[in-house]
Amino acid sequence: MPKPTPETLQRLRDIVGPKGFIEAEADMAPYLVERRDLYKGRAAAVLKPASVEEVSAIMKLAHEAGLHVVPQGGNTGLVGGQMPDGTGEEIVLSLARMNRVRALDAENNTLTVDAGVTLAAAQDAARQAGRLFPLSLASEGSCQIGGNLATNAGGTQVLRYGNARDLVLGLEVVLANGDIWNGLTGLRKDNTGYDLRHLFMGSEGTLGIITGAVLKLFPRPRAISTAFAAVPDVEAAVKLLRVADDLSGGQVTTFELVPRIGIEFVTRHLDGASDPLPDISPWYVLIEMTAGTETAKLDETMEMALAEGLDTKLVTDAAIAQSETQRGDFWRLREALSEVQRAEGGSIKHDISVPVSRMADFIAAATDAVSARLPGVRPVPFGHIGDGNVHFNLSQPVEMDKGSFLALWGEMNGIVHAIVREMGGSISAEHGVGQLKRDEIAATKSPVEMALMRTLKKALDPKGVLNPGKVV
Ligand SMILES: Cc1cc2nc3c(=O)[nH]c(=O)nc-3n(C[C@H](O)[C@H](O)[C@H](O)COP(=O)(O)OP(=O)(O)OC[C@H]3O[C@@H](n4cnc5c(N)ncnc54)[C@H](O)[C@@H]3O)c2cc1C
Repeated sequence: MPKPTPETLQRLRDIVGPKGFIEAEADMAPYLVERRDLYKGRAAAVLKPASVEEVSAIMKLAHEAGLHVVPQGGNTGLVGGQMPDGTGEEIVLSLARMNRVRALDAENNTLTVDAGVTLAAAQDAARQAGRLFPLSLASEGSCQIGGNLATNAGGTQVLRYGNARDLVLGLEVVLANGDIWNGLTGLRKDNTGYDLRHLFMGSEGTLGIITGAVLKLFPRPRAISTAFAAVPDVEAAVKLLRVADDLSGGQVTTFELVPRIGIEFVTRHLDGASDPLPDISPWYVLIEMTAGTETAKLDETMEMALAEGLDTKLVTDAAIAQSETQRGDFWRLREALSEVQRAEGGSIKHDISVPVSRMADFIAAATDAVSARLPGVRPVPFGHIGDGNVHFNLSQPVEMDKGSFLALWGEMNGIVHAIVREMGGSISAEHGVGQLKRDEIAATKSPVEMALMRTLKKALDPKGVLNPGKVV
């Protein structure tokens, strides 16, 4: 890759103007490291275009000069996809200034936004119109719609509404050569050939730059019922999901697994957090149902499901939130799980999925395998088990040195991912591939699949200017 010359940098500055051009080391710094300090990079410049035309002009120039461009949204990604490499020659293209809500069509139930709109702002725009945009992640205050779609984000309501990809009707994308594809249709039915939007969603900035999207909206639920239930084991948790979903006629929106060790970490490190139930249980689930009825009626449905769980020994104790405060407390226990692991030392992460029916087997087998390799390791498996997705995170043994533990990252990934493969699962359920898993995906996909992915990359980005070194 040629280093951008001073003339090229000047041409880029002319495209975006002084507000959109950052070159000073100190000003570029927040774009060159991600929040956990795991991935860092350097860049020749950070560009912040304000329109799709500016993105297009940047890409035309990048294509002509063979510059490497790294798209960046809210910089909350967990696999290093949004970070440039260490050469200082790549360009970071941040969508942060493209943050306009373009249109809301209440009849069509759609919201059209710039890619740089934060997820929280998109949810807000829907709320103000009495609608729901259901994508929901703990990073929603910072992550952007473009980043959500580029990573096909999951989150806490996939069970009911699907992944990010299921929530999009149309896209606007700038291609590697600067061409603009305006696919901002709000159509729910359109079978005129290939569905191009799905190529770009989940492609992590390697096939095109998403600049706008038409998002699907849903009726805003009037009733929310939230419960914390103690369950004896993971198998019971999975069975309880079926009971709750059947009894409520599909109103379960969230079904999250929380291990006892997670509650211990949260109560130890999060101010004001307390045990959700009086007795200690090895496992818990956070269950949420939503509906258009009243909360009192939905609470009755939740009670029925939990009562059936108690009768059949799937549940040992449970509490239904009686106020917004209590609901918030339940959610805080779940949402703090990632954060509090930091306070316990080193943490090795896995973001895997297996069929929901294999979840209990997976957690048991993976726990045995990592404990055999490193006695004292503390698995903290938590998350979206309703989707067959669990963050099988490992906290370091108490007495161990953090550096020595983190040195086992690759080996532990190898042990856990071998079990995932055996069970027909995925080694990246929702966070993507980025840099972290780029070298590993070839082992989990067939040669035919890998060849198809490389063919697509070559066809759409023949000069390899878009986010090199990521995904494929
Ligand atoms: C506390 C916390 C909780 C999280 N919880 C979840 C969760 O529950 N589920 C989940 O799926 N993820 C979760 N994440 C991961 C992360 O928030 C998501 O992946 C999010 O979708 C990334 O959005 P972003 O705007 O920050 O993108 P970035 O981090 O900036 O970028 C991510 C990738 O997308 C590409 N990209 C960004 N914008 C564009 C664009 N406009 N066009 C093309 N490519 C682009 C980048 O090049 C990069 O490869 C969590 C992260 C944190 C910190």
